[in-house]
Parts: sequence; C-alpha cells; structure tokens
Amino acid sequence: MSKQCRVVIVGNGMVGHHCVEQLIELQQHDVKIDITVLSAESRLAYDRVHLSEFFAGKSAQGLALTDEGTYDSWQVNYRTNAKVIDIDRENKSISTHVGESFCYDKLILATGSYPFVPPIPGGEQPHCLVYRTIEDLLAIEKSASTSEVGVVIGGGLLGLEAANALKQLGLKTHVVEFAPQLMAVQVDAGGGQVLREKIEALGVSVHTSKATSSISRGETCRYKLIFSDETVLETDMILFSAGIRPHDQLARDCLLTVGERGGVTINHHCQTSDPDIYAIGECALFNQMIYGLVAPGYSMAKTAAQHILALPDASQFSGADMSTKLKLMSVDVGSIGDAHAKTEGAQCYTYVNQPAGIYKKIVVSEDHQSLLGAVLIGDTNEYDTLLQYKLNDISLPESPETLILPMAENKPTLGADALPDTATICSCLNVTKGDITQAIDQGSCTVADVKSCTKASSGCGGCAALLKSVVDSELESRGVEVKKDICQHFAYSRRELFDIVKIEKIRSFDELLAKHGQGLGCEICKPTAGSILASVWNDYILANEHLALQDTNDNFLANMQKDGTYSVVPRIPGGEITPEKLIKIGEVAQQYKLYTKITGGQRIDLFGARVEQLPEIWKTLIEAGLETGHAYGKSVRTVKSCVGSTWCRFGVQDSVSMAIAIENRYKGIRAPHKLKFAVSGCTRECAEAQSKDIGIIATDKGWNLYVCGNGGMKPRHADLFATDLDDSTLIQYIDRILAFYIQTAERLQRTSVWLENLEGGLAYLQQVVIEDHIGVCQSLEQHMTEIIGKYQCEWTTTLKNPEALKRFKQFVNSDESDENIQFVTERDQIRPATAAEKSNQVIVVEVL
Ligand SMILES: Cc1cc2nc3c(=O)[nH]c(=O)nc-3n(C[C@H](O)[C@H](O)[C@H](O)COP(=O)(O)OP(=O)(O)OC[C@H]3O[C@@H](n4cnc5c(N)ncnc54)[C@H](O)[C@@H]3O)c2cc1C
Ligand code: SF4
Ligand code: SF4
Repeated sequence: MSKQCRVVIVGNGMVGHHCVEQLIELQQHDVKIDITVLSAESRLAYDRVHLSEFFAGKSAQGLALTDEGTYDSWQVNYRTNAKVIDIDRENKSISTHVGESFCYDKLILATGSYPFVPPIPGGEQPHCLVYRTIEDLLAIEKSASTSEVGVVIGGGLLGLEAANALKQLGLKTHVVEFAPQLMAVQVDAGGGQVLREKIEALGVSVHTSKATSSISRGETCRYKLIFSDETVLETDMILFSAGIRPHDQLARDCLLTVGERGGVTINHHCQTSDPDIYAIGECALFNQMIYGLVAPGYSMAKTAAQHILALPDASQFSGADMSTKLKLMSVDVGSIGDAHAKTEGAQCYTYVNQPAGIYKKIVVSEDHQSLLGAVLIGDTNEYDTLLQYKLNDISLPESPETLILPMAENKPTLGADALPDTATICSCLNVTKGDITQAIDQGSCTVADVKSCTKASSGCGGCAALLKSVVDSELESRGVEVKKDICQHFAYSRRELFDIVKIEKIRSFDELLAKHGQGLGCEICKPTAGSILASVWNDYILANEHLALQDTNDNFLANMQKDGTYSVVPRIPGGEITPEKLIKIGEVAQQYKLYTKITGGQRIDLFGARVEQLPEIWKTLIEAGLETGHAYGKSVRTVKSCVGSTWCRFGVQDSVSMAIAIENRYKGIRAPHKLKFAVSGCTRECAEAQSKDIGIIATDKGWNLYVCGNGGMKPRHADLFATDLDDSTLIQYIDRILAFYIQTAERLQRTSVWLENLEGGLAYLQQVVIEDHIGVCQSLEQHMTEIIGKYQCEWTTTLKNPEALKRFKQFVNSDESDENIQFVTERDQIRPATAAEKSNQVIVVEVL
C-alpha cells in the first residue's frame, strides 16, 4: 500500500461511522490515510439501535454517535446531504447528486438498507410511513398528532418496536402480521403465543395470518385496511415494517457482483468483486446472508479497515452469531441460534408458565451434548449462560432441562472461569475473554482500566456484569485481592457496614469505628458512615455526634452556591401551593432581596442568602406553614406532577393527590443519592415520569410504576416495573424498592447505576419486590415505616435548638458579614458579581 491512501466511505450510518473510528484508531504513523465520508442523510451518524428512545424523550443530539468537531479534529473530510449516484471504477472516483466528485484508492460501501414497503394499493398515501431514520420519526410524530389509531404492518422485531413507539405517542395501536405468529424469525410458535398474550395485555391488538390487500378511505378513521379474508381494520396512520432491503443500486450500476435477492457480495476481507471496493454492514452479502444487526456490521468495519491498512494480524469476517436479547414493550425476549430446532436430530426441552407469561425452550443436539438454540420469553435471566454454552460449544450438564427450570436444584451456572479465551464477552465491540485477560496481563487492574483499554461494555452496556465477573475472577486467579472494603479504616463493603449498623443498633461513627474499624477515619468512610446512619435511623443530622460526617450542604441545611451564599428551598409537595404560601415566599424573597427562580422540579428556589440570614428566613417560612425541601440532602427532592384528572381533559387518575401523598410519605428519608419522583395523569406523560428514579403514570386501571430513570449527566430511561397497580400496592412496591436501594446501593450511587449493577437487573428487582424471592419484603417495609416515622423538618428542629443555631455565622469569632459577597442586578434581580466586576467595583449593571 502507498504511504498516502485515499479512503472514501459511502454512507455514514452506524457501520460507516465505526469504520471511520477503526481507520483512525488503527492507522500507523508511516501511512497517511485521507478519509472522506459521505452521507445521504442530513446529519452525521446516529444510534439507530436506540432510535425508539426518541419517543421517550431522547433528542436527536442524544442519539448522535459523533459530531462535526470530532471529525474535524480527526481530519476526516465529511459531507451530509450528499447522495452518491455514480461509481467510476475505471477512474476510481465517485460523484454525488450535487455534482461533487471524489477520487479514491479504496472505496467502502456502507449504504445500509431501506424499509421494504409491500406494493399494497393505497399504501402511497399521506400518513403511510416507515421507521428507519430520525426524519421518519419526525414524520411519525407529526402524523400521530392528528391521529388516534395506528397500525403497524409487520410483527417482527422492528414492527413491535414501532408499535411501542405508537403506543408511547398515545395512539390505540394494532399490529398486523402476515405469518401466524409474532417474531417468526427469532421465536418458535409456542414462544410467539406467549409473546402475543403479553403484548395484548399491554393494550396492543395483534392480528396474525392477515394479508393486507388494499388501503382505502375509512369510515370512522382516516383509512381502512382491507385484508384478503375480507375483514377490515380502521386506522388513522400506517407504519410499514415488513423487512429491509439492502441499498445495493450503486453496486449494481457499476456491475459489482450482487446476490440473487440483493446485497453486495463480499469475501472474508469484506472486499466486493472489485478488490479496491469493500462493502460492510447491512448492504453486504456474506455467504448468502445479510446481517441485520449492528455487531456483525462492526466486525465487518474492523475487518475492512484492517485489510485496507494491511495490518499483519488482520482479522477475517466469517459470519456472525445472530442471537438477540431485547426488551420489547417491557417484555423480555431472547433468541439463540437454532430457535426453530431445524437441525437434524435436534431435541427440545420446554418450560411454560402461562399465568406468569414465561416461555423457555432449549434446543439440544441429538446426543444431548451441545446447545443448538434457545427461546426465552418473559424472563431472560438464563440468556447469558445459554449463549456461552452455544457460542463456545461447552458440554451440557447431564440434565440440560435444569438450565431453564425455575426451581431446579444445583442449577448449573457458568462462572467466568468456565469460559474459554475465545468466549465473546462484549458482542457490540467483539471483545473476547482473551482480550480482557491480555489487558490485565498488560497492567489493567480495574474494570474501568479494562474498559478503556479494550472498549468492552462501551456499546449497549449489556455485558457489564459479565465483564466485571471476568475481571474479578482473572485478578483473583493472579493472586490480586479484589477488595470490596470501603477504605483502609473499615474492612467492609458499604452493604456490610449497613447491616452492622442496623443489626448492632450502632448510632454514631465513633461507636462504629471503635467496634469495627481502625485509625481515625477519612474522607471516604466518614461520609459513608454518615449516610448509612442517616439512612438507618433518620436522626437529626446536626446532632453533635453526626456533625463531622456531613457534607457542606448538610452542615448548613442549605445549598452553598458559587459565591459562598446559600439557597433556600421550601418544600412544595406535588408542585401544589396556595396563593398565601406563594405570597409569603415572595415576601421573604423581597425582604431579603433573594434571586428567585421556579425550577424544573416544580419548586421555588431563593438564592443569595447569607449564612447568618438562614435562620430568620426559615423562621418566617415555617410560620407560614412551609417546611424544608431537603434540597441540600441526599434525600427525596421533588415529586413532580401534572394536573391529572382534576383539571386535564385527558387525565385518567388524580396525579396531584398521588404526588402529594408520595412526597409527604418519603420526604426527609436519607438515601445513597438524591431521589426524584414524578406522577403523570395519563400516558401523555406531561410530568416526564420516565426520567425519574420513581416514575408513576396513570392508566385507566390504576398506575404503571417505572423505576431507576435518571436525568442529569448520564440520562437513563426508567424501566417499567409493574402495571395497573392500585394505590396501596403502588406504595407498597415503592416502599420496598426504596428500602432495598437504600440498603444495598453504594454511597452516591444513583438508582440508575444501582440497577445496572444489580446482578439480574430489573428481573431480579421484580423477584425481590413482587415475589419476595429472598424473603426480605417484610423487613424492607418495616425499615421504611421506621424511617418515615422519624420525619422532621430539620429547620424546625434547628430553630428550637440554640446550640445548633450558633453555627449559622459567617465568622466564628465575629458577627460581621462576608464583604466578599457582592451582587449586581440583572433582569431586576441580584446575581453574584464576577471577579472582573468586583475588581472594577462596578456593582450595578443592567443586562436586558
Ligand atoms: C428501529 C430500529 C431498531 C434496531 N434495533 C437493533 C437492535 O436492537 N440490535 C441490533 O443489532 N440492530 C438493530 N437495528 C439494526 C441496526 O440499526 C442496523 O443493523 C445498523 O444500523 C446498520 O448499519 P449500516 O451502517 O449498515 O446501515 P445504516 O445505519 O442504514 O446506514 C447507512 C447510511 O448510508 C446512507 N446511504 C445509503 N445510500 C447512500 C448513498 N448512495 N450515498 C450516501 N449515503 C447513502 C443512508 O442514508 C444511511 O444513512 C435496528 C434498526 C432499526 C431501524
Ligand atoms: S399527563 Fe397529565 S396533564 Fe398531561 S395530558 Fe395526561 S393528565 Fe393531562
Ligand atoms: S446543571 Fe450544572 S449548573 Fe445547572 S444546576 Fe445542575 S450542577 Fe448547577
């Protein structure tokens, strides 16, 4: 290869972008790669796999995999809105629809595929849409805003995702499938039946064995689908999800070899019939197979990049495993290998628990030695273990059925040790156990090190637990002690310390240190102990014995701001406030000249209070019937609500009353991190409950409970935990979940991270909380009752305690105020003066 190599990539989807990343990462110093990437879409690469999250609030920016700045810094030449229309193989150049041309030494086709729309008369009308790009989603959103009923044509994996999207948009949703069952590719008939029951229970109507013959004007809705059996279905909009077709026209036009049913034919190096042209991702056909998943596309991208760079140990693409584990409308679905038992002599074991909506099947070889495939619906706990059996051809136990039976004694589990070096741990980025071992040999000694070195678990993150267990087991086998101690003063994990405090009824740090620790304590164990003591006993945190353990904010029962002043945040349960209390807050703000802001969490924050003013401010607020909002603590912040059925035309339950009840119930409890809640009165979700630790959405039958969502720096969409709950079951589940979180999470661990690290994830949490699987529900409830019973407004307690009040002074030895605190006026309110403003002594500026 020449020292200068021009590589042009056509298509900037997930795979095209991954290929850019690979070329940048793998290029050697002596070779200058000049990369150009052309995208027919109006934006750079984004995450298509998580496209549906757009309807759950994720922005186009949140889905982006890269941006202009990154490509600029890599010196990658890029064009958006640039559709390649011609490849001139002789002159090695391509041209776009706007007439731009680019020469190449190596060309990579990463043009992906497009949704197949069956030729149904009437299918070309407005509101008949597909589901593939962000632009498609915008069109769907627009159409849904004037629709009440939606139909998805196609009951495969993507069809069910699309149906979920329509449901989230508040439409009455139907799925129409030509085959006799849903997800016919990945799931067998028995699994398809259980899946159907679960999806129908979520309110989506399923119509199987239905061929649509035409779409005409409707009577009650915009359109009418007419099926070949002459039945009809009325709908306002239609989403086609009837499979994909590779974008291979470019290849056909320049006479590259394509498959009979489409797809650009490639070899092990991902080269097409022209050795200087490669094809990768969903447009490529390898061994008569198109791989419609992102992981094989990433492998192809890596293979092509390594081949172009002529790396000595370049990998070869030799097909990929198509096993999938996913969650469709909150239903767990897993499919491994030969799910339909098509292999000659294959034998099946099946477990069905219809009432619970669980179906599990394993397919084994004739001699019962190897696992050929599996189907899991409703519970995918065994997926990882089964996948490792299949991928690594590990010999099955004597009674293979024990792998899927729920109560089986000595249920075989595959520990990290049992996996061979070739076992794939992270399938998104194709990282094997051998890669991880190698990283550890080269000096990585934490999961974080291994992650940054191998990139394992930086894709979908589904392998995080497996990665940790491989790293721990490898470290242990090298004699490295995997420490779970919180610091050198306590040889215990937070969880163990929590149990010690609770069981031995320890009430102070000194007592804990004397009985179970050593030395004087440090910045890690003191706040950890402070948080545990507060979580277990909910005692007054400014009591003398606890003072030294608190963070700055807790110390002054107020949030310290950047200029050394504090903010005052009264509690406004559910966001509901009387005019009298509102006026009082306004009066206090006016009297103390506090900057006043209504927050996103439906509270009113007052900024700029000097520490010595805090007690007088709180005295006035408390006399007006307000309480502390605990904005400074790792505790319950807000329970946001919409106006619900009381005022809203769409509301199906009284979200305000529920929000107030919840906020009053949990206010003041201390947790490993702050907790946010929200309650929406219907699925329109005006309170944005699905981005909260605990989210509640009204249904016409009760409440759907969502858990462990997160806004902030690392947003996470909450998981649906249980549906249609009555009021008391809802509260009971929240009690148990919160108590379990408080007891088992690490200090400063948000619920989202806690759930992700919880072995068994959501399914395990459901077992603990709903089924009382480990028999702790009673003690969880008791713990919650105890700490709720200890509620106090900490400012009320403080105002009654002259000793505690002594700390609210700027200077220990003087009553003076801090002169360093200076404000300027902006939009009729104060704000902290900047350093320049302070030095220029310009104290009043007016900014419009
Ligand atoms: C809703 C949805 C959910 C999915 N869920 C999963 C999942 O859970 N797991 C999984 O593994 N996979 C999933 N997939 C599939 C996965 O997204 C694809 O396998 C992957 O995105 C394919 O990447 P690609 O780069 O080959 O193609 P694409 O992402 O389609 O990118 C191809 C790009 O090339 C552009 N292009 C085409 N022709 C030209 C041209 N002539 N000139 C310039 N540009 C051109 C296209 O506009 C497009 O931007 C899902 C797909 C969808 C739509
Ligand atoms: S979420 Fe609340 S405010 Fe929004 S439409 Fe439903 S009931 Fe009305
Ligand atoms: S987002 Fe950042 S700046 Fe804004 S309040 Fe939070 S921490 Fe402060």
